[in-house]
Amino acid sequence: PGSRQLLRELYPHTGRARIVGVTGNPGCGKSTLVDALVRGYRKAERRVGVVAVDPSSPFSGGAILGDRIRMQRHAVDPGVFIRSLATRGHLGGISRSTDDVVSVLDAMGFDVVIVETVGVGQAEVEIVETAHLAIVVVVPGLGDEVQAMKAGILEVADLLCVNKADRPGAERAVQDLQQMLTLRTDSRPPPPILETVAVSGKGVEELRAALDARLEAGAGSGLWQEWQERRARRRVEELLRESLTRRALGRMPEQELGARIARVARRELDPFTLAEELAGLAPSTDGVRG
Ligand code: GDP
Repeated sequence: PGSRQLLRELYPHTGRARIVGVTGNPGCGKSTLVDALVRGYRKAERRVGVVAVDPSSPFSGGAILGDRIRMQRHAVDPGVFIRSLATRGHLGGISRSTDDVVSVLDAMGFDVVIVETVGVGQAEVEIVETAHLAIVVVVPGLGDEVQAMKAGILEVADLLCVNKADRPGAERAVQDLQQMLTLRTDSRPPPPILETVAVSGKGVEELRAALDARLEAGAGSGLWQEWQERRARRRVEELLRESLTRRALGRMPEQELGARIARVARRELDPFTLAEELAGLAPSTDGVRG
């Protein structure tokens, strides 16, 4: 409660941070890589915020544990702020809460905000889209690449990172990705593919340099306004969805709603009619025969 008002007041102070999405399958080395990127940014004397989103976990327990482990490394550094979010089950979805946290970090003056998400479904594609640029992390071994392709994640990648390049098959993975990139439907130039070994830091500075080059090129051009507008639109739409859903569901007493949903489940009523009724677009289904 009250967060909305605070976020409203913060809003004019946002809009400066470079927002970077990092996504990939569990275990591909995202946290290790983000950690290495953070170290690089700190060496360059830039302040970094990290939002680690786990869309699959409704519990904050795991997230807090993850926070602790990572925070230890940067515990005494005021130039780093790391926050984990376990967002499943929140009305308003992952993007809303993530965007709010990103906003706070932006207002706090962090130069770069990294949004790290597990790449397992549609949710992370959305989160990646809220960032200015997205890094998609894959590991050697064809399975991951196919998986990435399936999730449509390659479509949103601005940079591709083959992490665990110390493992056999890295070169092959790069080739596979190059092959798959030829299937991209959009007209943007293909994303560069970089190899990293996050555990040793090998290739991470090169990745950061490629990332920064793109971020700064964007920030210094008409792209920046485009990025800001994309985020602004998403936020408005997300808030709208949330408030309209809340309002529509609030129109009907819970018991009545439950009864209607039971009818949908029994196929006595179709979900389209009920949704339209709740949205105020269709007359009440009271008279519909069961
Ligand atoms: P996440 O689930 O994507 O965040 O992955 P983590 O960062 O937790 O890494 C998963 C495991 O892979 C850990 O045991 C890491 O130490 C290991 N790992 C991360 N990067 C590399 C790498 O470049 N090479 C190798 N061999 N292992 C790595």
